[in-house]
Amino acid sequence: MDTAETAPFRFFSLQVVRTRRLGPSMVRITFGGEDLARFASGGRDQSLSLFLPHPGRPAPVVPVEEGDNWWAAWRALPEDVRAVMRSYTLRAQRRDPDEVDIDFALHEDGGPACRWAGRAGTGDRVLVLGPAVAENTAVRFRPPADADSVLIWADETALPAASAILEWLPAQLRADVWLEVPRGGDRQPLRTAADARITWLVREEGAPPALEAVRAAEPRGTRPYAWIAGESGTVKELRRHLVRERRIDRRRVTFVGYWRRGVSEEQLREAAVKAEESAAGAA
Ligand SMILES: Cc1cc2nc3c(=O)[nH]c(=O)nc-3n(C[C@H](O)[C@H](O)[C@H](O)COP(=O)(O)OP(=O)(O)OC[C@H]3O[C@@H](n4cnc5c(N)ncnc54)[C@H](O)[C@@H]3O)c2cc1C
Repeated sequence: MDTAETAPFRFFSLQVVRTRRLGPSMVRITFGGEDLARFASGGRDQSLSLFLPHPGRPAPVVPVEEGDNWWAAWRALPEDVRAVMRSYTLRAQRRDPDEVDIDFALHEDGGPACRWAGRAGTGDRVLVLGPAVAENTAVRFRPPADADSVLIWADETALPAASAILEWLPAQLRADVWLEVPRGGDRQPLRTAADARITWLVREEGAPPALEAVRAAEPRGTRPYAWIAGESGTVKELRRHLVRERRIDRRRVTFVGYWRRGVSEEQLREAAVKAEESAAGAA
């Protein structure tokens, strides 16, 4: 890792300050720590890597002293020692005091991050690999300057990102937004200056599947930009619809698989590493 002042990402050592249930499927965890003085979020869907202690350990084990080699050194540690690494979104950052919020979806198929969030208490320690400069590559919501409307779909894991994006959108920009959540009580108050049409797709209330809901809507604007994030299979279907049926230029569709049904983030990462290694071997 580059340790120069201008390095876009660095490690931050944080502690839980408080937790708050936002609904049946979501908990907000507020973190503090002296390190946050140097944290600089780019807003929108700013993502970060969160390192959680392996169950039974007081603090996450990440060999940060290895500098640029931390990743190889972390992977070389036994799985029951090294910290659990997961991707999350910065929901909000505040100053005086320095605090950040991360919203965790609590899913039934609970993995280690979900379980940690469900049990977290004041003083619990985590490590974050996050932004030290606001202009960084972990912000993916980037509408072209000429966009006259935006289309957003997010499931519960991408709701924190979609909420922060809505807060960032300029006044009057047309925004068609679908937010898919498990339960009625998961609806959240949202703030935006945009001319937003927000539809909650609540699974327990029998909401139509995302593709059906988006397909049925009358498009607004002639130069749209789309951002879709959540379960990989749904993201793929929606992207295909937007590019092939709606004929939105593929460069104007940002799509991010936040999780894949039946596969842990660990397994997804290992598969990506193996694919990269075999591509490098073939070159
Ligand atoms: C850029 C980015 C930003 C993200 N931001 C957030 C965020 O702000 N808040 C948030 O909650 N998540 C966010 N996610 C998604 C989160 O990283 C995954 O849900 C992750 O799998 C959770 O880790 P885990 O340890 O709980 O489960 P894992 O150990 O990774 O997976 C265990 C099992 O749970 C399943 N699973 C994972 N997530 C869900 C889910 N939501 N519903 C049902 N089953 C699930 C998996 O398919 C697997 O079968 C983000 C992902 C990315 C890539």
